[in-house]
Amino acid sequence: MLTVKDLTNLQGKVVYVRVDFNVPQKDGVIRDNNRIKAALPTIEELVKKGARLVLMSHLGKIKWKEPDPEKIEAMKKANDMAPVAGELQKLLPGVKVHFSPATRGEALKEAVAALKDGEILLAQNTRYEKGEEKNDPELAKDWAALADAYVMDAFGSAHRAHASTVGVPAILKEEGKPVALGYLMLKEVENLTRCVEVKKEDRPYVAILGGLKVTDKIQVIDTLLKKCDYIIIGGAMSYTFRKAEGANIGKSFLDEGALEYAKKCLEEAHGRIILPVDSVCTDSFEPVEGRKIIEVEGDIPEGFEGVDIGPKSAARFAEIISKAKMVFWNGPMGVFEQAEFQEGTKRVCEAIRDLNGKAFTVCGGGDSASAVKQFGYKADFSHVSTGGGASLEMIQNDGHLPGVDILK
Ligand code: AMP
Repeated sequence: MLTVKDLTNLQGKVVYVRVDFNVPQKDGVIRDNNRIKAALPTIEELVKKGARLVLMSHLGKIKWKEPDPEKIEAMKKANDMAPVAGELQKLLPGVKVHFSPATRGEALKEAVAALKDGEILLAQNTRYEKGEEKNDPELAKDWAALADAYVMDAFGSAHRAHASTVGVPAILKEEGKPVALGYLMLKEVENLTRCVEVKKEDRPYVAILGGLKVTDKIQVIDTLLKKCDYIIIGGAMSYTFRKAEGANIGKSFLDEGALEYAKKCLEEAHGRIILPVDSVCTDSFEPVEGRKIIEVEGDIPEGFEGVDIGPKSAARFAEIISKAKMVFWNGPMGVFEQAEFQEGTKRVCEAIRDLNGKAFTVCGGGDSASAVKQFGYKADFSHVSTGGGASLEMIQNDGHLPGVDILK
């Protein structure tokens, strides 16, 4: 695969760059600009090479199935990309950043034609186009017609075969034009590929899974069972497995439909699936005042719900992690959004910190990445992914993602 570094002779050339500027924002105020910052190395490299950059990204959701056109307009307004252009300009004071309110047609073509070498045009939200998520061939053709080359740097969108992530590079590739990975993508692909192409020196390989539903993670469990030496399961997910073992789980979250699957997994894993042996439980989330919080080993009493792993489980998990040479982690060990139920997730972070860089450790984005950052352990990981859905899909599909494969 080509990378942005390999692209040459870009002076005067238009490069279509798919970025992930899906930043948290409200009423035009951007609450976190990290995703914009993450794309800067790729953007700066292309600017330095004299390219004319057309940046495209989605922002939020537009539900096109909504029958009321006024509601569609309101969704568009709530997800307007214009403030992102302002933020990008602040981050790149020496570069001219233009914004195009048009996503297609003559107005966009004119804005692209007016670009000078080393300038940037950020186009309006790709999802303003109904055909984006359907990978509409006409839309992809229109976008591809603007560009001499394509760079993909939106890892968080690489698991979606949309017009901007797959349609455009497919056409450009067909025309013999260069398509390449950006720096952010390159880092993600290299690190996550290592988690599926397991080498001898990466063993023992330990996966840690948590979060809510087993159903969402069946494929990833299947893949990891083939690759890993141990799979540690915490979070709400673990109660479906505990139930499958015959334990009483009180009113803990149960993924009923995945119970048989959990039984089958436990049988086939021959002891390689490690479950919690104790739990922090509560009798209610609300009201917070007066609720009971207890720690129990084994069965959970009626009327109580397991909301975090207990100290014995945390110690057991830490012991297994301490021997690992490679770790892949996705999903919190408990309801980490509430201070009382953070301990288990923190103890996993500490166990990874205590490896002191002696193992290759990856946090697969989403909620666990938020927790790692919130608790201050990001620097202790070899890699913290920027894409929750994309990193899980990359693992479960053995290193394949539509937005990566198309660049091969
Ligand atoms: P996921 O998106 O599947 O990774 O799930 C993340 C969510 O699972 C977080 O919002 C956690 O609060 C929640 N969660 C983790 N453990 C539990 C638990 N034991 N009971 C209920 N929710 C949980």
